[in-house]
Amino acid sequence: MHTRVTALLGTRYPIIQGGMQWVGRAELAAAVSNAGGLGVLTALTQPTPDALADEIARCRRLTDQPFGVNLTLLPTASPPPYEAYLDAAIAGGVRVLETAGRSPRRFIDKAKAAGLVVVHKCTSVRHALSAERDGVDAVSIDGFECAGHPGEDDVGGLVLIPAAARQVKIPLVASGGIADGRGMAAALALGAEGINMGTRFCATVEAPIHPRIKQALVDAGEPQTRLIFRSLRNTGRVLDNAVSREVIARETRPGGCGYEELRPLVAGARGRAALEAGEVDDGLVWAGQVVGLIDDIPDCATLIQRIVTDCRQRLHAAAQAFGLPPGAPR
Ligand code: NAD
Repeated sequence: MHTRVTALLGTRYPIIQGGMQWVGRAELAAAVSNAGGLGVLTALTQPTPDALADEIARCRRLTDQPFGVNLTLLPTASPPPYEAYLDAAIAGGVRVLETAGRSPRRFIDKAKAAGLVVVHKCTSVRHALSAERDGVDAVSIDGFECAGHPGEDDVGGLVLIPAAARQVKIPLVASGGIADGRGMAAALALGAEGINMGTRFCATVEAPIHPRIKQALVDAGEPQTRLIFRSLRNTGRVLDNAVSREVIARETRPGGCGYEELRPLVAGARGRAALEAGEVDDGLVWAGQVVGLIDDIPDCATLIQRIVTDCRQRLHAAAQAFGLPPGAPR
């Protein structure tokens, strides 16, 4: 599979394991990269930039393939030293910087001068165009189905991906709502040149979270995610559980509530403890609507091969059925 995305990333397949708080660690990122995708370490999962440097070194011991570092620019309880994390990624010689959330403008020149490929993940066409103007190398467009922060526009991938493909000239990666070969084939047909998956990679052997959390993702159907932080305009999609239901109850009661009242429920450290202990109802479990498409917990190599094979077969069958040569025009 050769697209502008594989050329940029230096990978066999145009498949990215997007940054995920607490999950994007060396064992997962290395497994994805070894399987031909792009594994990504989540910078803010590490307590300090020095710890990120150690994690990059650990990842490099586990794979000789390219991998990336994610820097998420969104509200946090205490502002992290973003630039120092970027410096650690540069010093560690990673190939790709995945930025996500707010504008990455202030980091682009430095990252590119250091030779990093910058992929910005965002949830609207206007932000994609703005990142393109600012000089990023590729854009990941994240539909409303996604886990984490889908933005406030609520546009699903079936519209958002082609809307972005019509306007963005740099390579486009489709994100949100993709978990199998059907999704990958659809994303390519809609104009993307690669895919980004998060939740699907959480339900893999190598994901560093408790097996009970992985099983909860398998057990959940597509209606079982919830949107929190709507009232704060920092919407987040998470698994339906006791904590997300309580957050929504507080947000939607008459008069609502501020972040401070939610903080003990939603704190990152609490979510991390729940993921590690396998206590599905003890913290936020970030998950996308693709939970309805996840039936098993394969290793990353099996998962990626299955997706690629299924995608190829579906595109080939569609091309034959409609009498078109394989390879859809952009
Ligand atoms: P945290 O403990 O600081 O925050 C927990 C949650 O509360 C996060 O979703 C954060 O965006 C939100 N939040 C924090 N302060 C807020 C405020 N003043 N107003 C509204 N919302 C607020 O952080 P963490 O869980 O350690 O996460 C660190 C970073 O990673 C944050 O920027 C967070 O948004 C991001 N994150 C992203 C995802 C994702 O899937 N995209 C998931 C978890 C965390």
